[in-house]
Amino acid sequence: MLLGCIGDDFTGSSDLGSTLAREGLRTVQYCGVPTRDAAPDVEAGIVALKSRTCPAAEAVADSLAALAWLRRQGCRQFFFKYCSTFDSRPDGNIGPVIDALMAELGADRALVCPAFPTNGRRVFQGHLFVGDRLLSESGMENHPLTPMTDPDIRRWLTLQTRLGVGHVPYQTIAEGAAAVTAALEAEVGAGRPVVVLDAVADGDLRVIGEAAAGVALVTGGSGVALGLPANFEERSGRGEGGWEPVAGPGVVLSGSCSAATRGQVSAYSRHHPALAVEPLRVLTGEQTAAEAADWVLSVLDAGPMVYSTADPEAVSALQASHGRDAVASAVETFFAELAALLAGRGLRRFVVAGGETSGAVTAALKTESLRIGPEIAPGVPALFDAEQGLALALKSGNFGAPDFFESALAVLGPDR
Ligand code: ADP
Repeated sequence: MLLGCIGDDFTGSSDLGSTLAREGLRTVQYCGVPTRDAAPDVEAGIVALKSRTCPAAEAVADSLAALAWLRRQGCRQFFFKYCSTFDSRPDGNIGPVIDALMAELGADRALVCPAFPTNGRRVFQGHLFVGDRLLSESGMENHPLTPMTDPDIRRWLTLQTRLGVGHVPYQTIAEGAAAVTAALEAEVGAGRPVVVLDAVADGDLRVIGEAAAGVALVTGGSGVALGLPANFEERSGRGEGGWEPVAGPGVVLSGSCSAATRGQVSAYSRHHPALAVEPLRVLTGEQTAAEAADWVLSVLDAGPMVYSTADPEAVSALQASHGRDAVASAVETFFAELAALLAGRGLRRFVVAGGETSGAVTAALKTESLRIGPEIAPGVPALFDAEQGLALALKSGNFGAPDFFESALAVLGPDR
């Protein structure tokens, strides 16, 4: 394995996998720290963790365990992937994880670049923009778990890391990789080894990638990973190697209530049978995964969908009356049980909408590793569980066009 990656969430890790595979590294996503060694042909391994919002000490411990496994696989460079909106609280978890990874690697520097220009995330003069708004005026200041109230990534990181925070501004990036390398040396020499780099376009990310050759620890969104594969001259250039389409019946499971998913559920239900999950009836035991599994099997040829997707008013009302965590956990358990039942009854293709929902479903399917295949939509690759012969698409809430479910099932493979 050449490049070892640690992802702080599940669907973000697939997004990273998509970028690395497209740039020619044969990539596998692991669901948690694997207990076995990787297959010998894997060039980039991504250990997907759920470490974005857990206590910082837990995020550090999990990330160090992932690092130890990746080092055993022979990796020379490591990438810590977080959200391109730098989702974190003032007391963690990005800074503490960077500090711990640097200490463990004996690294004298870490590069920090959340930019993802394709999705409108740009870093300029140390400030993160979403489209033409500063991060703190983009809606992210109201995020329920990680409100981002300061767009200055240098200031935010200073609250999180014990080390000095440096900066390489856009005017230096524009001069090319040699200038960036010199600027990095200067920052490290001045006692600021955690270095934020500006980037506003993919070309900037490739310059940063070139300057990152030989740097042990690079961190950022999936965007900056764009420039890393080119440094590995021995790479196969066959990013999708090992991925195969899977023939067999498929189903769509949607537990995401995000705006893009609501549009996709509505578009798909126009031409396919759709069963609504009613959280209230799930909570009282009136609606069960076993019944839903029977229903799916009864309409299998028509490409059925089971969804709990609802509009924000319905979700808030239910959360107010029954508690946010209780509802979320009941719905996630429902989808997890349903997926396991369906896999047991021969379903082979699963399209899942929702980050948390995807985590619950892959755990229930006992998926350990996923080969990264072709991109279905930007940031959403087709995935292949070679051990179980399953094809999956895991879509985070706001990704994908209205016809995403239809195209995802088609990319995963034929009906029979
Ligand atoms: P996204 O990627 O869109 O954020 P997630 O799956 O990560 O989707 O999160 C959606 C959360 O909302 C899950 O915990 C899910 O169980 C919960 N949920 C799904 N449907 C409903 C609903 N109708 N009412 C309340 N909560 C719901």
